[in-house]
Amino acid sequence: MQVTLLGTGDTTGTPTVSCDCETCQTARDPPEDLREKLRARGATITAGGGVERTRFSVHVYNERTDESLLVDFSPDFRRQFLREEVPLPDAAVVTHIHFDHLDGLGNCYRLIDELDVFAANKTDPQTGESVAETVASDYAYLDQVTVEPRTPLESFETCGFEVTLVPVFHPPLLCYGLTVEDSETGAKLSITGDTCYAIPEESREQLAGADLLLAEALVPAHLCDYHPLGGDHHDDEGVPRTFGTKHMTREGAIDLAGELGAERTRLVHVAHFYPAEEAFAEPLAVDGERYTLD
Ligand SMILES: [Zn+2]
Ligand SMILES: [Zn+2]
Ligand SMILES: [Zn+2]
Repeated sequence: MQVTLLGTGDTTGTPTVSCDCETCQTARDPPEDLREKLRARGATITAGGGVERTRFSVHVYNERTDESLLVDFSPDFRRQFLREEVPLPDAAVVTHIHFDHLDGLGNCYRLIDELDVFAANKTDPQTGESVAETVASDYAYLDQVTVEPRTPLESFETCGFEVTLVPVFHPPLLCYGLTVEDSETGAKLSITGDTCYAIPEESREQLAGADLLLAEALVPAHLCDYHPLGGDHHDDEGVPRTFGTKHMTREGAIDLAGELGAERTRLVHVAHFYPAEEAFAEPLAVDGERYTLD
């Protein structure tokens, strides 16, 4: 299983359009020693010498079956596939219907002849539709796409992998994390999806024991001071593990990774609000990192 982090940013990405904060400036033009460090970590260095955190997407290649599974359709789909030169997907999973995870699906037009798109079948009280139904209605004009509704916590097979959607907590919308497992090699990838720290117990059990965990970590905990709702799900020292109500803090994601016993963890869905001196430190991921799980 070869995992490529196509998009590791939040909904505005880094650099953010028209932002001249120190973090975005550092991403556009990192000092030489940081650039070399990031390159050594597997980051893709752009033609301009910078690094990126584009909107969220993960590419999972099965070398046994020569098939590719895409997790979420980033609005940066085109740029990501040009930049990383990974194969186009044979199937995909959509975690939830927010712009930064779904609105790249239209890029499949004239690129892909047939694509199964898996998504949860549970009706969201907020929208009156399941994620699968929203994807199907939003992209009804795309004949190439077949939406495959699936029941959360029941595994299904695609691209030679066992995939399981796990409910997480990203109010007000229903959202799912997932696991991707190769039963032949035992490799396991876990992705939290967009979520606060309050992930239900049965989802935690499914996410546990991964070779690689991709955990969302929008901001560091100290930025909860600037959220109108502050933080939530505090640890014993009073550090918030949730930012507002929808997302994990860096500290929350690191705690979660420890609890889930992940062999390796990368923090994703990272916002440009991290101070520049924290934004490129481990274990925060940048676009282009690749991992082979076996
Ligand atoms: Zn910025
Ligand atoms: Zn979201
Ligand atoms: Zn998101």
